[in-house]
Amino acid sequence: MRALTWQSAATVAVIDVPRPTLVHPTDAIVRVTSTAICGSDLHLYDALGPAMRNGDVLGHEFMGVVDEVGSEVTRLKVGDRVVVPFNISCGHCWMCDRGFYSQCETTQNTDQGTGASLFGYSTLYGEVPGGQAEFVRVPHADFGPVLVPEGFADERALYLSDILPTAWQGVTWADVPQDGSIAIVGAGPVGQLATRVARHQQRASRIIVVDLVDERLALAREWGAETIDLRQVDSVGDAVRDLTDGRGADSVLDAVGMEAHGNPVTAAMIAAVNHLPGPVGRPLLKHAGMDRTAALLSAVDAVRRSGTVSISGVYGGNRDVLPLFDMFDKGLTVRMGQCHVRQWTDELSNILFQDEDVLGVEKLATHHLGLSEAPAAYELFRSKQDGCIKVVLDPTR
Ligand code: NAD
Ligand code: ZN
Ligand code: ZN
Repeated sequence: MRALTWQSAATVAVIDVPRPTLVHPTDAIVRVTSTAICGSDLHLYDALGPAMRNGDVLGHEFMGVVDEVGSEVTRLKVGDRVVVPFNISCGHCWMCDRGFYSQCETTQNTDQGTGASLFGYSTLYGEVPGGQAEFVRVPHADFGPVLVPEGFADERALYLSDILPTAWQGVTWADVPQDGSIAIVGAGPVGQLATRVARHQQRASRIIVVDLVDERLALAREWGAETIDLRQVDSVGDAVRDLTDGRGADSVLDAVGMEAHGNPVTAAMIAAVNHLPGPVGRPLLKHAGMDRTAALLSAVDAVRRSGTVSISGVYGGNRDVLPLFDMFDKGLTVRMGQCHVRQWTDELSNILFQDEDVLGVEKLATHHLGLSEAPAAYELFRSKQDGCIKVVLDPTR
C-alpha cells in the first residue's frame, strides 16, 4: 500500500510499504478515506526531526472504514465508518478511568518518559505507523474509534480525531468567566476551531485572535473574533490590554506552539540540531532548551492578573527559561498537555452530527489533495501559501 513517510528533515515521500495486519486481538485495520495534515506534523517534519526514523509513516488525523477486526473487538464490525482519536488509549487503566486518555498507562512510553502512544508521532510516542496511508492498524480498537453515523460527509467527522477536541479542551481549560474575554494566540486550524468553540460555549463575550497571516485573521473575523495582526503591533500584550480596559484578557489560549514566529536564535538552533545524526540529535532535542517560546511569552503577557493560560500548542525541549517570575507574580493558572480526545467526543458528536454544520467544519479545509501530493501539501501548509489553512488528503489518489 502507499503511505507518506518521513525521510529526513523537511523531506517526506509517498512510498510502498507493507499493508498492516492484525497483531493483537484488540486491533482493527481501518481503510482510510480521509486524512489531514496537522500543525503537529509540521513539528515532526522539521523541528522534531531527530526523534523520527527514516521510513516512519506519518499522520494522526484520519477516519475510514473498518476492514478487519481482532477477535476481542466487539464494539466494531467490518464496514463500520469510524474516526480515530490520535492518542491510543486502552479505556480501562487508572488514567483512562479518570479520563486522562493522553496519559493511558497501558500505552505510555516509559522508556521515553512520555505519555500515551500516538499515531504517526515519532520514537517519542511509540513509533506507531500513522494514518497518512491507505490502511492503518488501530490498537485498542475496542475503545478508541468513534462511530460516524450515516449521512454525513467525511469532513463533518474527521476533526474529531484531533483538532476539534483539542480546541474544545483548550477553550474549556482556559476557564473563561461568563461574559469574559479570551485571547487566542494563533489562527491555524486549532485556533480557528477554538474561536468557533468559544463562540459556541457562549461564555466569552469577547474573542480576540492573534496571527500574522491575512486569510487566517479574516476567517477568524468571519466567526466573530476581533483580530490583532502580529505584524502591526510592537507588543501583543499591549494590544490585548488596549482592548480589555488595560487589564489583559481573562483567559488566553496558546494555539501556536514551537513553530512560533519571532525566535530567530532558537530557530537557528533547531536547524542546527536537525542536521545532527539521530542518535546525537535525539538527546539534545529532549534536554536542550530549544523551544520557540514567542507565542507562550505573549500569552503570559496578554493575560490579566489571576487569569488562566491554556496551552494547546506543542512544545519540546526541557531547558527553556519561562518567565517564572511573571507567571508566579501574576498568580496564573496554567493548564497544558495533549488532548484527552475521548473525554470530549460524546459531547462533540452531539454538536457535530445534527443537520446544521454549526461549527463549519465541512468548510475548514482549503485544500483537498491526493495522498500522492502529500509532500507538496506539507510545504504548502508550512509556508501558508495559496491561502492554505487545512489540507485533507484522499488516500485513493
Ligand atoms: P498551524 O501551524 O497551522 O498554526 C499556528 C498558527 O500560529 C499559524 O497560523 C501561524 O501563523 C501562527 N503564529 C506563529 N507564530 C505566532 C506568534 N508568535 N503569535 C501569534 N501567532 C503565531 O498549526 P495548528 O494545526 O493550528 O496547530 C497549532 C498548535 O497546536 C501546534 O503547536 C500543534 O502541534 C498543536 N496541537 C496540539 C494538540 C494537543 O493535543 N495539545 C493537538 C493538535 C495540535
Ligand atoms: Zn493533529
Ligand atoms: Zn489506558
